[in-house]
Amino acid sequence: MNKKVACSECKREIKDGHSFLVDDQPVCYECIFGQVEPVMIYPIGKVSKINDDGISRIDLFPYQQRFMYKLEEEKWITIVYYLHQINSMNTVFKRGTKSNGKEVGVFASRSPHRPSRIAVSDVELVRISNFSIYVKGLDARQDSPVLDIKMAKKL
Ligand SMILES: [Zn+2]
Repeated sequence: MNKKVACSECKREIKDGHSFLVDDQPVCYECIFGQVEPVMIYPIGKVSKINDDGISRIDLFPYQQRFMYKLEEEKWITIVYYLHQINSMNTVFKRGTKSNGKEVGVFASRSPHRPSRIAVSDVELVRISNFSIYVKGLDARQDSPVLDIKMAKKL
């Protein structure tokens, strides 16, 4: 059942779930992003499995294998992925886990609750098997679309 929800900013009806919860209030995409057309990005794979030992498996789509030449020689790689389940954010929130954390906006933080839904994570490359890349330290949910993989800047 589709419940009709009005945007808390412009008061118009929100169509097709095109909204975020901002400070717990629904706001339509037009109010957040203006009149621009969305950018279309094809994922190159997805986060397939997250194990208890902190190792995640990323499965790339088969065609992507030709772009993996010498990837196994890297120790650290950067994973760019899409936060497909995120639809809420706060304009200001406390950074970190402590209650005395500094108050900041989304762009001064690494919060996953952000309007772009793009996340970047530097991870340790554990091993590669065909199109599967095993990494340690990826803070992504299962089935997250993977948008890109890059050599990480030296830490
Ligand atoms: Zn609106």
